[in-house]
Amino acid sequence: MTTPITRFAPSPNGPLHLGHAYAAIVAHDRAMAGGGEFLLRIEDIDGARSRPDLADAFRADLAWLGLNWREVPPQSTRIDTYRDALTGLMALGLVYPCVCTRTDVARAATRMGPDGPVYPSTCLRRGVPPGPDVAWRLDMEQAAELVGDLTWRDERRGVQVARPALFGDVVLWRKNAPASYHLAATIDDAADGVSVVTRGADLFASTHVHRLLQVLLGLPEPVWHHHRVLVEADGRKLAKRRGADPIGDRRRAGEDGRAVAAELRCALFDTGISLSEYLDTPL
Ligand code: GLU
Repeated sequence: MTTPITRFAPSPNGPLHLGHAYAAIVAHDRAMAGGGEFLLRIEDIDGARSRPDLADAFRADLAWLGLNWREVPPQSTRIDTYRDALTGLMALGLVYPCVCTRTDVARAATRMGPDGPVYPSTCLRRGVPPGPDVAWRLDMEQAAELVGDLTWRDERRGVQVARPALFGDVVLWRKNAPASYHLAATIDDAADGVSVVTRGADLFASTHVHRLLQVLLGLPEPVWHHHRVLVEADGRKLAKRRGADPIGDRRRAGEDGRAVAAELRCALFDTGISLSEYLDTPL
């Protein structure tokens, strides 16, 4: 088994809450349990929503939780790499320009995917010239045909048949910001040498697309570890946009971060098993 290299990849568009702390702890402990390494990557290419000043608070929060990490370059330093990847996909004829707005997509869509309305390839069919104000979408049908059947493995849920078509023609390059999450995260995980991609189960379906992109871009295949997501009393995921309490408030109030981390580690287990047992539990 290869040494586990895991990562926590927060976007600095709001303060970290307990759900992030939990994700960081899972990634950290997964790496430590296998004698590996835990990485921090700041995913700071979210246009105007990105607040680079928050990265320092993230570091302070992780240290407060008692975690050690190695920080890898933030996404904003890798734009050229993402552009090169896009250019490679253009050369293969696998991407096309798109000028549709979110409203256009919502109106035209005939089905829902894991991320919302699925784009019905309107701009592929009508042909749109490239230009500075276009987004670039993956021609999913062609891409899937090129790579054929794919699988990927989640440590907890076992081998999955990749179903990238669920998403339709995903955006790889955005109009007002550079690479999309799918393209950037896939390239970064390979560039950072991540061998176990740990993240919340809310992103489980995204992995279908990431696996396809890995093959198209000739990147190595990691394994994934999608962990449970902390929910609020009403069953909804803790979320920045719904104002989940920042853990920084507790840090600044002088609470013991290691005790908070210990509580979260308990939240990992339905049955009171240890972390190493949890990781070794057959799926
Ligand atoms: N940057 C993403 C977020 O903050 C995480 C993406 C990932 O772990 O793949 O939700």
